[in-house]
Amino acid sequence: MLELRPICENCGKKLPPNSTEAMICTYECTFCADCVENILHNVCPNCGGGLEKRPIRKQANLIKHPPSTKEVYKPIDKDSFNNLLKQFQGIPPELR
Ligand SMILES: [Zn+2]
Ligand SMILES: [Zn+2]
Repeated sequence: MLELRPICENCGKKLPPNSTEAMICTYECTFCADCVENILHNVCPNCGGGLEKRPIRKQANLIKHPPSTKEVYKPIDKDSFNNLLKQFQGIPPELR
């Protein structure tokens, strides 16, 4: 089950479970669409994988399976992220 983390790891933007802007990698590193497009260029800074839109859990199911309240806030380190970008930017996730 997805954790549905509450904020963007890079900029801290709130990403409630019904946000259409939340993006996740396979490890559920969670970012807003803005950061993914303009800063991360679809490269997860933690694992190097691609990011996809987080599916939305419907409201009734959130009662039984509530979203995570634990904020993971880890803005990118520009130098080490640039190294990762050099390696993976422009290469589709399925070919990395
Ligand atoms: Zn963000
Ligand atoms: Zn990741």
